[in-house]
Amino acid sequence: MAKPAPCLATTRLGEPCRFSARKATGFCVNHDPSYREEQRQNARHGGRRSIELRTPISIPLGDVDLSERAGV
Ligand SMILES: [Zn+2]
Repeated sequence: MAKPAPCLATTRLGEPCRFSARKATGFCVNHDPSYREEQRQNARHGGRRSIELRTPISIPLGDVDLSERAGV
């Protein structure tokens, strides 16, 4: 199998994006504008998939109350 072509976009640092590009657009999921729309729509339906695709997100731990267990 051939290696997937790299993304045509550059990162915020001006370096070439290292993600694999989607054949349709030449951009990876991070830089493909149409894919972003897809993600939004998926998110609307509350699909778990959209969450997995967005993996590199920072979870605000402030929203998780870890003291709850102690309070029970
Ligand atoms: Zn990219």
